[in-house]
Amino acid sequence: MNVTVIGTGYVGLVTACCFAEHGHQVVGVDEQPDKVRRLSSGDPVIYEPGVEKLLEANLRNGRLRFTTDIADGVAASEVLFLCVGTPQGDDGKADLSQIERVTRVIASHLDGYRLLVEKSTVPVKTATWIARTLRLHTRAAGAAFDVASNPEFTREGTAVRDFLEPDRIVIGVDSDRARELLLALYEPFDCPKVVTDVSTAEIIKHASNSFLALKISYINLMAELCEAAGGNVETVAQGMGLDERIGKSFLKAGLGYGGSCFPKDVRAFIRIGQELGVDMSVLQAVDALNGRRIDQIAGKLQRALWVTRDKTVAIWGLAFKPDTDDVRGAPALALAQRLLADGAKLRLYDPKALESAQHLLPAGDRVTYCDSALHAVEGADALAVATDWPEFGQADLADVRRRMTTPVVVDARNMLDPAAVRAAGFEYHSVGRPESDGLA
Ligand code: NAD
Repeated sequence: MNVTVIGTGYVGLVTACCFAEHGHQVVGVDEQPDKVRRLSSGDPVIYEPGVEKLLEANLRNGRLRFTTDIADGVAASEVLFLCVGTPQGDDGKADLSQIERVTRVIASHLDGYRLLVEKSTVPVKTATWIARTLRLHTRAAGAAFDVASNPEFTREGTAVRDFLEPDRIVIGVDSDRARELLLALYEPFDCPKVVTDVSTAEIIKHASNSFLALKISYINLMAELCEAAGGNVETVAQGMGLDERIGKSFLKAGLGYGGSCFPKDVRAFIRIGQELGVDMSVLQAVDALNGRRIDQIAGKLQRALWVTRDKTVAIWGLAFKPDTDDVRGAPALALAQRLLADGAKLRLYDPKALESAQHLLPAGDRVTYCDSALHAVEGADALAVATDWPEFGQADLADVRRRMTTPVVVDARNMLDPAAVRAAGFEYHSVGRPESDGLA
């Protein structure tokens, strides 16, 4: 089948590479000429495990190409995937301007039949707006279209595997033709397929992300309770998670959820629910709890340092989670900003996100980017572990101790072994666990 993917960021690039890998003829369209040039030469632009190999192989075998020209993409394929950004807009609403702009341009090039598929995360009823925009802007006689929803559930860091081996595929369609096209495209994928109407599919995506966010905020609330009452949140999570109705995943207390999806998706879901007259207060609480996490961890650092001004804090991990270079909405950067506002000097390290982080938090007098975890702790008064990259768990703690001015660790991800850290001579603070250092 011929497939066009519009927007070749984290989702679009993986989608394009994986469909090409499945034997389809794929055109990737992006408005950024530099990105298109780099992708066309085999440079994936982003760090996402497995993508580079698929990109190279499918460029070489001629099944994948990139262009800035939407007209080319519309002409090339019957199925067009919309993978552009849907960032947070005013008052938490989804900003759908990229979707609207792309739809208008597609409409102006539409001649025969095309199926537009929402892969971007959008609020329920967006397909209705897309269809209306297509109707208003299409000129050619013989132009026809369907709009479908096929939400994306891949996780950054494991996106290629998630795409190729999904736990489910959701197909939201309002016509037989759209259903047949999408079922044919996904025919080789061996997983449950939920085929439903477009609005239900749109809701499934927001409902899924919001529910995962809810689990994270819930366990963080339990962490607050454990700190107040003297319990251990890790054991609470274990005790809860063994109940198969609850499940173990997403019960990890820490610095809260971040990234380019959960925060804005929860808020967009709240807003669309409110617009439809539904009380979304359970999700408002989820959002508020998540916002408190930075205060909680910054508070731990502040208490550990006593006075934060002019102290040097090393931060390990800047990406919003391990195995990605994505720092959009990264809790680690929010923590860094908070510490800067409190007068600290920062030494920052991340295995993959040093470059992307510098766009959001430039290096300067009080911000130093370091090329290794050990380099970052040189002369530090405290170390904050903000993203749970596996390499941090293997650090030589004695060496870390020697390099630091004072031996204080605030482990905002509960990833280090408390006994080992304390045995190496550190004062160790973590999340929702009993503190033997007296600074809960
Ligand atoms: P991204 O910002 O990485 O990529 C978006 C791309 O769209 C950019 O390359 C941009 O240049 C391009 N673009 C914007 N306007 C365009 C236009 N008019 N014509 C052509 N290209 C255009 O975003 P992303 O992280 O890939 O997310 C895309 C969507 O997928 C969002 O709705 C997001 O919520 C959703 N989503 C993301 C993930 C994820 O892991 N990042 C997972 C599931 C769903």
